[in-house]
Amino acid sequence: MTLDDILSLSKRKGFVFQSSEIYGGLNGCWDFGPLGIELLRNIKDAWWKAMTYRPDIVGLDASILMHPRVWEASGHVQQFSDPMIDNKTSKARYRADNLIEERILALRNKKKTAEADAIEARLAAVQTNEDYYNIITEFAIPDPVSGTTEWTEVRNFNLMFKTFMGPVEDSGNAVYLRPETAQGIFVNFKNVMDSARMKPPFGIAQIGKSFRNEINTKNFLFRTREFEQMEMQFFIPPGTEGEWFEYWRQQRWDWFLSLGINPENLRRKPHDKLAHYAAAAEDIEFLYPFGWGEVEGIHSRTDFDLGRHQEFSGKKLEYVDTVSRERYTPYVIETAVGATRTFMAVLCDAYAEEHVQNDDGTSEVRNVLRLHPSLAPVTAAIFPLVNKDGLPEAAMKIYTELQRSFRVDYDTSGAIGRRYRRQDEVGTPFCITVDGDTTADGTVTLRDRDTMQQERVQADAIEEIIRRRIKR
Ligand code: ATP
Repeated sequence: MTLDDILSLSKRKGFVFQSSEIYGGLNGCWDFGPLGIELLRNIKDAWWKAMTYRPDIVGLDASILMHPRVWEASGHVQQFSDPMIDNKTSKARYRADNLIEERILALRNKKKTAEADAIEARLAAVQTNEDYYNIITEFAIPDPVSGTTEWTEVRNFNLMFKTFMGPVEDSGNAVYLRPETAQGIFVNFKNVMDSARMKPPFGIAQIGKSFRNEINTKNFLFRTREFEQMEMQFFIPPGTEGEWFEYWRQQRWDWFLSLGINPENLRRKPHDKLAHYAAAAEDIEFLYPFGWGEVEGIHSRTDFDLGRHQEFSGKKLEYVDTVSRERYTPYVIETAVGATRTFMAVLCDAYAEEHVQNDDGTSEVRNVLRLHPSLAPVTAAIFPLVNKDGLPEAAMKIYTELQRSFRVDYDTSGAIGRRYRRQDEVGTPFCITVDGDTTADGTVTLRDRDTMQQERVQADAIEEIIRRRIKR
C-alpha cells in the first residue's frame, strides 16, 4: 500500500478532497467529504467517550482566538519555531532537521550506512541552528529539487498564524490562530475546577482545530497547516507524576488497540531530548506508508504551564484543600493526539487489497477497508435483490428502522456481488439483502465484510445483532 493508494481512495470515494481544488488547491489544507466526515466523527466520538465518560475528566470547548499574552506565557511567541533553510538555486525552503533526516533515510536506502550513522550522531547532538547548518554543509547534503548544495544560513521560523483583531491592522491588535488546544485548557483551569467541583487528580479534555504554518506540508493528512487535535490535561498533586504518567501511557496505547489498529503498526518512542520543564515524554508512533511517525504525545509537564500563566496573568492557579488548607499548583500529565493524523492512521491500517475466489473458479482483487465496525462511516447497507415483487418496500422498511440508530445506505443498482464490493471498499461491515423469502418468512441475508460469510437472520433481530457486533 502506498500513499497514492490512500489518496486515490480518499478522493474517489469521498473521504478527503484537496481544499479549494477547483482553484488548484491550497497547500496543507484538506476537506473531509461525506464518508470522511463520518469516519472522523466516529474517531472523535471514540476519544471523547474514552476520555470523558468517567468521573474524573470533564470537557471544554475554548475559542480558537485567545489573548495574545497567552502565547507569551506558553513560550510560543519566543520558541514555537522550526529551523528553516533555503536552497539558493531552487529557492526551495526546508525544515533543516527534516532535510537532514531525509538524507539519512536516502543514504540508508542506498546502503551507505557509515555516512548515515555519522550524520545521525551529529543530528542527535544538535544545540543551535549553526549545528544544523554545519551538518548540511559538511556532509554536502543536496537539495532534493535541484541537487545543488548552496544553502542559506539556518533561521528560525515561527509557526503561528498571525492575524489582526478589529478593523485596524497594527501590531497592537495582533492575535494568533491557536497552534494547540492545550492553552485553552490551562487558562480555564480554575473556572472548570470551581464550577464542576473537581479536585486533583482530575482532567479537562478538548477537541478542536489548531493551526501551524508548517514550513513543508506533505504526506497527506500527516502534516497539515490546519488540523484537529484531541488533548487532555490531567491535573495532579505534585509527587504523583510518575504513577500518572505510567497510567496515561498505558491508557492511550490501549485506546489505539481498541480502535482495532494492528499492534504491529504501533510503537512507543520515548523522547531522547526532554523540554527543560518536562519530567518525561513518550510518543506513540504509527507505521505510515512513508515510515514511522508520531500520532500522539504523552507528556509529564510539571507545573510549568500553570506556573507560567500565574506569572503572566497575576492570577492564582492553585488548588486549595478546604479541610487541610493545603495549597499547591498542580502538576500536569498531557495526552495530545491529532484527530486528523489518527484518521490517516486508521485509514492506512484498514486498507487491504486481497485476491478472492469467485464461485465460478475465477479470482479477482477485492479492495476492502477493514475498519473497526464502530468507526465505519456506513454501518450497514440494505439491498433489495430485485426492484419488484414488494422487495424495495420491504428493504426500505428495514432501512427506515435501522437509520434511527445507525448510518445506513440503500443501494438498488447492479448485481449483488458488485454492491458488496462497493461497500467493502468503503469499509461497511454489514450488508443486508432482502429477497423473495423476506416477504414470506421475515428473514434476510446478513453478510459480513471480513469473512464474506452470509447468514440467514430475522429482519427484526438485525438491530440487536449489529449493536452487539459494533461494540468496542
Ligand atoms: P511533529 O513533531 O510531528 O510536528 P509535535 O510534536 O509538534 O508534532 P504536538 O505539538 O505534540 O506535535 O501535537 C500533538 C499532536 O498533534 C501530534 O501528535 C499530531 O498528532 C498532531 N499534530 C501536530 N502537528 C500537526 C500537523 N501539522 N498536522 C497534523 N497533525 C498535527
